[in-house]
Amino acid sequence: MSAKRVSSLMIHILMAVAILSACAPAATEAPAAATEPPKVATEAPAATEAPVAATEAPAEITDTELNVLCTPQEQWCQGMKQEFEAKYGITVNYVRMSAGEALARLQAEKDNPQFDIWWGGPLDSFVAAKGEDLLEAYDSPNYANLLDPAKSLDPDHYWVGVYMGTLGFATNTDWLAAHPDVEAPTSWDDLLKPEFKGQVMVAHPSSSGTSYTALATVLQLRGEEAGWEYLKKYAGQISQYTKSGAAPAKFVGQGEAAVAIVFSHDTVNEIENNKMPLKLTFPKEGTGWEIGGMGLVKGGAHPQAARLWFDWALTPETQALGPKYAAYQAPTVKGVELSHPELLEVNLIDYDFVWAGEHKQEFVDKFTNEIANAENLKQ
Ligand code: PLP
Repeated sequence: MSAKRVSSLMIHILMAVAILSACAPAATEAPAAATEPPKVATEAPAATEAPVAATEAPAEITDTELNVLCTPQEQWCQGMKQEFEAKYGITVNYVRMSAGEALARLQAEKDNPQFDIWWGGPLDSFVAAKGEDLLEAYDSPNYANLLDPAKSLDPDHYWVGVYMGTLGFATNTDWLAAHPDVEAPTSWDDLLKPEFKGQVMVAHPSSSGTSYTALATVLQLRGEEAGWEYLKKYAGQISQYTKSGAAPAKFVGQGEAAVAIVFSHDTVNEIENNKMPLKLTFPKEGTGWEIGGMGLVKGGAHPQAARLWFDWALTPETQALGPKYAAYQAPTVKGVELSHPELLEVNLIDYDFVWAGEHKQEFVDKFTNEIANAENLKQ
């Protein structure tokens, strides 16, 4: 494939969205997958417009603390905490929680919010949080930095995207060597092959945004009826569900099962930093992807510090920090070099975050009640 810029990806996504929305299905119908998936970037974007400079602290900072609900991997949460504290002198307390757990926490604390800002985790959960009046709208000056505001900015400014990632399969190469007749899966149907029975690991969609992305991807690719039929068979292949989305890559790397369904950047982390014997593949008929979200928690006690974090997270300087903390997600703002452009150079469906978010509770309940309950999840 010839090299294309990220702007080209965004244009293709926008075109696909425009075409699909012109013939949008009824709200309960899963949108059809884009027949011509968007082309993807192989190069870092050149900033065509100068991004807004890093956010300066207001003359007087009155908030001395910030409570962050952090959904990406622990190492990145910790790194962001340290960077923000060093820049602004505000103490950051964070709790790392998977997306489904984080949403449940915000629901439970609605009348007495303990967090000021929610940073990271697939956008579907932010769409659901907005729908439940858990977020506060905010007009950040740094929306001007966004590569693709049509896709990554809520029209009412309740949520915004802070990174992007694609869903893939991670297969243990030692297991493949021991099963020379088996190849790493390259389609969703491959996961149903008898040789992978009891050998597939994925998180549970009730706790994990990663797993919900996989569920919503299947429904969007196949339509709801065929999608749920597929999910029943897929559940028959699972060795164990985990709580956190990235954990299956680690467990499969350790040989506990053959294949993990995880975000591709998590697999890169396991291969490059933890030297796990993993092979990364993608479903050729199309894979889902995430935009990691961010939103202010409604009624948070430290709104000034929260807005400061919000603006700071939308600068190229902050988004360029990811790889320093083993986070290989793609940026959502202009002017940041992609650490792993090949992770976007795959067949992507035109994932509909709003549709997936609006149906999240219904689909998670259906999966939990009819397919696999959420008891005894592996940590
Ligand atoms: N960790 C990484 C690296 C992610 O990219 C994401 C997705 O946003 C998450 C964790 C989300 O975690 P979970 O699937 O546990 O909700």
